[in-house]
Amino acid sequence: NSEQQVGIVGSGLIGHSFAMIYAASGYRVRIYDIKPEQVQHALSTIDEQLEHLAKNGLLRGKLTVKEQRSLITGTNDLAECVKDAFFIQECVYEDLDLKRGVHAKIDGLCKDDVIIASSASALIPSLISQNLKHKNRFIVCHPTNPPFYAPLVEVIPAPWTDPDVVVTTKQLLAETGQVPVIVKKEIDGFVLNRIQYSIIGECWRLYEEGVMSVEDIDKVMSEGLGRRYAFMGPLETAYLNADGMYNYGDKYKEMIYRVQCTFGAPRKMEGPTLDKIQNELTSRIPLDQLNERRKWRDIRLASLQKLKNDL
Ligand code: NAD
Repeated sequence: NSEQQVGIVGSGLIGHSFAMIYAASGYRVRIYDIKPEQVQHALSTIDEQLEHLAKNGLLRGKLTVKEQRSLITGTNDLAECVKDAFFIQECVYEDLDLKRGVHAKIDGLCKDDVIIASSASALIPSLISQNLKHKNRFIVCHPTNPPFYAPLVEVIPAPWTDPDVVVTTKQLLAETGQVPVIVKKEIDGFVLNRIQYSIIGECWRLYEEGVMSVEDIDKVMSEGLGRRYAFMGPLETAYLNADGMYNYGDKYKEMIYRVQCTFGAPRKMEGPTLDKIQNELTSRIPLDQLNERRKWRDIRLASLQKLKNDL
């Protein structure tokens, strides 16, 4: 794989994590950012994380820290990042005009048979790519944050994306240890965020109505639903919670429908409820300790991944 180059455009939270994922599979990775200091920051974050993973026995792939690190280089020149790449992962801010501008530049510099993937969280691929010469080579690969520790990637082709782009992207992601799922139709929020937002919306409502504290609502997921969902999704869970789906429907459809009818219209995350939720969380996790808490989370996510691999 070291003959093949991946270009990472935008080296923030998602960009540096994707760089680690491709290097762990032996690809040469070039990272670029509009801010040169950000490239340096990404490289030192990668150093720190690789050491941390190695110390905890959680390094990905077969290469040593040194070998993985030697595959990743930074550049302040977009052309150097993308011109020889067979796969480009764009990871700039979620802003349609910015992404369109960045892709217009990439379009003029890349090879014709390249695959250009965007990490967009919600912007649909046809909106970003409609004016590109290489729009048939464009696809959205929406990762789960942090991509290195949460493997799911939603793969969303535009109506004009070449079929081989979908196949190769899926193969590449699977090879690196990520888990690709295909979103067959463009839809606002894709699938992960549509499900996530329905959960956040209901948590918000339950808190606002005084049904439960923030800490206990979060426990319902981390100690209840989330425990099962780490191994199987809600549909298979339902299937197993009765004797198959017909039986689940017979037993629970009236109750589920009755409760769903009480959900009501969405509410904006603002006002006094926002203040109260923020206060409950900051009293437990002060804002100056977010990085420690992220590290705590990431090491557990990596351990869960290892457990899943070993089971
Ligand atoms: P980030 O703010 O951490 O990083 C964005 C980087 O893009 C910055 O380093 C910035 O300097 C760089 N940048 C800005 N303009 C640029 C340009 N013209 N050329 C090159 N680099 C440029 O953001 P992030 O969280 O890494 O998000 C990147 C993308 O990934 C967004 O589309 C976001 O929606 C998506 N995403 C984020 C998450 C998440 O939870 N953070 C999850 C999934 C997908």
